[in-house]
Amino acid sequence: MFSYTSGMASPTELLPQKERERRLEEAGHNVFNLASEDVFVDLLTDSGTGTMSDAQWAALMEADEAYAGSESFKALKSAISEVMGFDRVVPTHQGRGAENVLYGCLIEDGDVVPNNTHFDTTRAHVAENGGDPVDFPVEGADDPDSEEAFRGNLDSKKVRELAADVGAERIPAVILTITNNSVAGQPVSMGNIEETRELADELDATFVIDACRFAENAFFVREREDGYADRSTAEIAREQLSHADAIVMSGKKDGLVNAGGFVGVRDPELFERTKQRAILYEGFSTYGGMAGRDMAAMAVGLREAVTEEYLGARIGQVRSLGERLRQEGVPIYTPVGGHAVYVEAGRALSHIPDEEFPGQALVCELYREGAVRGVELGSFAFPDTDRPELVRLALPRRTYHDEHLAHVAETAAAVVDRSEEVRGLEIVSEPENEALRHFSAELRPV
Ligand SMILES: *Cc1c(COP(=O)(O)O)cnc(C)c1O
Repeated sequence: MFSYTSGMASPTELLPQKERERRLEEAGHNVFNLASEDVFVDLLTDSGTGTMSDAQWAALMEADEAYAGSESFKALKSAISEVMGFDRVVPTHQGRGAENVLYGCLIEDGDVVPNNTHFDTTRAHVAENGGDPVDFPVEGADDPDSEEAFRGNLDSKKVRELAADVGAERIPAVILTITNNSVAGQPVSMGNIEETRELADELDATFVIDACRFAENAFFVREREDGYADRSTAEIAREQLSHADAIVMSGKKDGLVNAGGFVGVRDPELFERTKQRAILYEGFSTYGGMAGRDMAAMAVGLREAVTEEYLGARIGQVRSLGERLRQEGVPIYTPVGGHAVYVEAGRALSHIPDEEFPGQALVCELYREGAVRGVELGSFAFPDTDRPELVRLALPRRTYHDEHLAHVAETAAAVVDRSEEVRGLEIVSEPENEALRHFSAELRPV
């Protein structure tokens, strides 16, 4: 089979079973330690792993690498203005760079920051700047069988209770992550975005949208929310962000590029401060850690990302993987969200107790069985929380074919069929910072 990575076809080989066993052993039962050539279908993440279009490659060839005021920055700035409605833009090397720049300007020691659910790098940057990151997902967000249309929403009532408790002056910003990455990529409704706008006004807080998957979110609004069926996804995408005071963006998601990110703000004074901070951490304010060619490609990517053709194919493929898995009897979180299918490892391997990491055991078996790489997002990645034991299969954008999806579903089904044989794992070595352990810890079967 062929897969299309970085815009070119390259052969991928399924290693023989014995070899896979050996590589998994050498990797310490942690798939972050595998080489990509050892993997047949790589669903570790959808971050920066997608395939660029011919138009993006063409833009890249014509890019301007000037240090200051490059044509490519101008192109990116005008794409952001047109697609996202923000005219004050600070480029950064990727999404977390944008978080560092913005949250460093907004948050002070002792602040409390509500979010529908903090993505892990967001949580870290809020905390790094002295804030207390608090999650307010709607009720039922972690019910794997709910058919609720907008389970990514923020519970604004709970945020009001928090404000009454700690005082609104301690809440400098309210963040809405669309789609809600940490809640299985579930969407946020336009109604909830409008509610959050009102809430931020009441609290006199800056309303920030983490816009990494804003285009995917717009697709769900069009499909599921009253009054949007006849609007284009591009219009909806823009309307969502029109309510926000600021956005942070990772180009590696709906920017459809392999690197890059930016901050968008409306307030001129905040704009000045973010530019100054960006110069310190990212680069001069017309490149911010991106090469001119990355900015040129992202300018094209943003316009492609909000089209119905692209989004229909993208969300359709994620759904198709979910459907195949369901047909094979693999338990998954439904409805399927925007960028990934989440397998319920706790149900698939119900005989393995949480202390023996059923999610990580499933990740290892998917590799052993069919050289499929997913990622654990349960008690191994998030120690000391009571998150459900999930394995995320994230689809890189415009990269795999139906045959690959079929292979993933068959692989997962084979593992579920012989689930009683699968053993739990224990940690052999782990880094000092427990919050980052799933990237580098080593394990062995118990
Ligand atoms: C990926 C992501 C980020 C961070 O972006 P990077 O480009 O990986 O640094 C922030 N928020 C959300 C919701 C994301 O998905």
